[in-house]
Amino acid sequence: MNKNELYRDIPKVDVLLESEAVAGLIGQYGRSLVMEAIREQTERLRRFIRETEDETAARAELAGLTRSIAAYLKTLRQPRVRKVINGTGTILHTNLGRAPISRDQAQKLAEIVTGYSNLEYDLEGACRGERYAHFEGLLCRLTGAEAAMVVNNNAAAVLLTLSTLARGGEVIVSRGELVEIGGKFRIPDVCQQSGAALREVGTTNKTHFSDYQQALTDETKAILKVHTSNYRIVGFTESVDASELAGLAHERGLPMIEDLGSGVLVDLEKYGLTHEPTVQESIRAGIDVVCFSGDKLLGGPQAGIIVGRKEYIQRMKRHPLTRALRVDKFTVTALELVLLEYLDPDRVARNIPALRMLSETEQSIRERAERLRELLKQSCHSADIDLRPCQSQVGGGSLPMERLPSCGVSIWPWAMSTQALERRMLDMPVPIVPRVADDHILLDMRTVDSEDLPVIAEMLGEVLG
Ligand SMILES: *Cc1c(COP(=O)(O)O)cnc(C)c1O
Repeated sequence: MNKNELYRDIPKVDVLLESEAVAGLIGQYGRSLVMEAIREQTERLRRFIRETEDETAARAELAGLTRSIAAYLKTLRQPRVRKVINGTGTILHTNLGRAPISRDQAQKLAEIVTGYSNLEYDLEGACRGERYAHFEGLLCRLTGAEAAMVVNNNAAAVLLTLSTLARGGEVIVSRGELVEIGGKFRIPDVCQQSGAALREVGTTNKTHFSDYQQALTDETKAILKVHTSNYRIVGFTESVDASELAGLAHERGLPMIEDLGSGVLVDLEKYGLTHEPTVQESIRAGIDVVCFSGDKLLGGPQAGIIVGRKEYIQRMKRHPLTRALRVDKFTVTALELVLLEYLDPDRVARNIPALRMLSETEQSIRERAERLRELLKQSCHSADIDLRPCQSQVGGGSLPMERLPSCGVSIWPWAMSTQALERRMLDMPVPIVPRVADDHILLDMRTVDSEDLPVIAEMLGEVLG
């Protein structure tokens, strides 16, 4: 093959720029990006010619130059964070962004963040305000606490609480509650980071009231209880009630702190789930500071919510770390909107997506599965499509033992492996993240929105048509 001739046939930059196709790209992406794409793609083409001995392939690459320039630009301008369809059935999937907010909430959020807002402005007093003021009253009303504030996430909430209340002293924690959650949040490490020394008491399975009593010294600054949100110790076990510990702490004038992890505001038993300790119960038990996540079972944006006694919360608001951990207008706005939904306990499960998915009946999920199966039967002619009973998980390190009966759509492709189909699904315009179970692709319909059914059928039809 004559490589020199091929090199000569690569169009010059100015020729490319004058072509109609490339001129169209300039209108769409701007001149400097188009120049970059031309440079990159002609360089890639030269390399290809240098390394190949296949003239037909080289000619094909040459003919496709404008197309590869367009593809380069398209990839470059496509946001990397994208909508995906969650077919895993895990409701609070940390890798998939945990709790979604509703469309209605998102629309209200868009109105606020596309302009200015009174984020830190007190409209009544016409002066500087506090960003926590927007939902402090609401959080107090919902939880029964005296005061509230919010930081970046619950890890930050625990760090700030211990830094403010226990730095330079000891904090007592049961050995059964030295939790690690995903992303390397570990109670001993957070404690160390806060400048408080961890005083472990009891054993992995049993901690008694007397263990706490005996550990109290002049160095003690607080007692901490951690909800073992992502594991359970079962069998020969014992732990001490938060209210008893609060009594012990208060005898010594110490704060009683609780890291609740997920922090629910509604009794999940209402929806047939295992009881998960609520924030209200902790406040009623006399806990002075309770912290929990905004994007776990609460169903809101990522946030760390701290509620409790005014004197302690006031000290936290003034702590220098607070500025570094503070929430922005997106979080403040979305959190207030989500909290407002809790004012109506009868409708909260309908208006907060995470709670809606959590409380949806198997029957209702099955109806959605049947609809998808019918759509898939029309678009996919080279796969077995069936309904399968399955079990969903809560996720987000909450209710680890809970399995929710659900219904899935299983797909068994005839002409490719399940792994290959999974790969294709992840590469789709709207990627679908499925579950792979005994050589089937399974879409657990609990976490799939009915609005997405037509697009799922269309995209799968292109692969399995
Ligand atoms: C999830 C969790 C955290 C961390 O919360 P994030 O909001 O993810 O930072 C801390 N403590 C417990 C017990 C948890 O379950």
